[in-house]
Amino acid sequence: MTSRRPKNGSSRSNRPSKEDLAVGESSGRHLLAKVVEPGFCSGCGLCAGICPSSSLMMEYNGKKELVPHIKGHCSGCALCLNVCPFSGEGKSIDEVSEGLYGHLPGVGRLVEAGWFISAQEGHACRGDFRSKGASGGMASWFLTKVLKDGIADAVLSAGPDKARPGSWTFVRTEKPEDVVSLAGSVYHPVPFDEAFRAIMSEPPGIRLSVVALPCLAYGLRKAMRKIPLLGERIVLLASLTCGLMPTHRYSEYVSLESGVLPEEMGYINFRLPPDEPDSGNYRHVAISRDGVPGKPVSVKGIPDFLWGHGCFIQGGCLVCDDVFGETADVVFMDAWLPEYARDTKGNSIVLCRSLLADSIVKGGVSSGECRLRETAGERLLRSQVQTLWIKRLLLQGRLAKLEAEGLEYPRRRVVPDMKVYRENEKYFLLCERLKKAVEELPLETFEDLESFRNIVGHLMVDGADQ
Ligand code: SF4
Ligand code: SF4
Repeated sequence: MTSRRPKNGSSRSNRPSKEDLAVGESSGRHLLAKVVEPGFCSGCGLCAGICPSSSLMMEYNGKKELVPHIKGHCSGCALCLNVCPFSGEGKSIDEVSEGLYGHLPGVGRLVEAGWFISAQEGHACRGDFRSKGASGGMASWFLTKVLKDGIADAVLSAGPDKARPGSWTFVRTEKPEDVVSLAGSVYHPVPFDEAFRAIMSEPPGIRLSVVALPCLAYGLRKAMRKIPLLGERIVLLASLTCGLMPTHRYSEYVSLESGVLPEEMGYINFRLPPDEPDSGNYRHVAISRDGVPGKPVSVKGIPDFLWGHGCFIQGGCLVCDDVFGETADVVFMDAWLPEYARDTKGNSIVLCRSLLADSIVKGGVSSGECRLRETAGERLLRSQVQTLWIKRLLLQGRLAKLEAEGLEYPRRRVVPDMKVYRENEKYFLLCERLKKAVEELPLETFEDLESFRNIVGHLMVDGADQ
């Protein structure tokens, strides 16, 4: 897979000048014009969190993507622009990750995965880490260990927002025994704005570990340089591989499929283990506000089709080229490898970039708490081949199309390539048809679900014919 800095991207003349961006009175508006309005926002919420004037607020737009809106006076400090992972401002992902890890002893690099000291596959052995999650339990084991050993005082990770049913937030966990209750990925945008403000008002000397998706991890790294206190407080940044983040509309669809009206949905367990020997066919289940679980929904079928065709996906994700959380100290992922396909208990791959993360994982192996073996680079990439296809290869075609249409896009590391677009033109056209057909359809009632299924079903047949 080719990966070098394109000559173009973010360099057109209609871009605000550096002076505007640095001191302008409307940095928030520049952020909206440059990132949000063209559809390149991932909903990370960092801009809203870092804004000292609280002038940005995260809200759903018409497509139910989570994006910032301007709500108050902007002082022009440009912090929002500087930390946004899609603004093209500040150091690139490659520069940040090389600065953090490129000098460490024994470090290696893969173009698609970044710098790392070790890559290992397997699972947690003790406790209920493995049985409570669907990916081998290594992330929960690791974060529990971080708290038990006093490396951090608390962990911030995504979980259901108890105060706002149907939403997700960053949950602060101090007790090691509570970490496992947050096991399982969240396939819904989780804005970091409130967590950011909470970190800044923590007592002096607090040490935190944050679990952030790749875009948020990169934005946080930029923010940690801008605001040294934030850098002192976040002592360990963990990430997860990320294969596009669905919008709130995806949750509405899942809720209806599960038999729960979206207005009654409390939260969704996105990683219920499969009920057949096929680890890739995990299930979603919506839980009502009264705590009653609905019917599990297997992801193979309409959910995978929507996801694989970029439908109900945050706009920024479709121009995101970081699969492996290249700026995080440790990254956890499902081991999507053929030999684990029938193992429904799940298996993880753990990529350690920092010496601290590597020593924690090695300690777990020597104490018998984890069963892991080394993963070769080629296996690491193979385990995420589908995500690499969408986020690296197809991105070349997507960017080439934007360029051909004269549209500006954020600085990316993959090279736009019209040949990739042409070779996958039927796929891209189907993506467009699907989006046009369903992106604005109401998904509030079971009748809405019926029409939605019919439309998507026809397009799935068309897709299968290609
Ligand atoms: S990607 Fe994050 S920082 Fe950038 S505009 Fe969207 S929410 Fe704000
Ligand atoms: S695909 Fe990229 S932009 Fe989207 S949530 Fe994942 S890391 Fe962020």
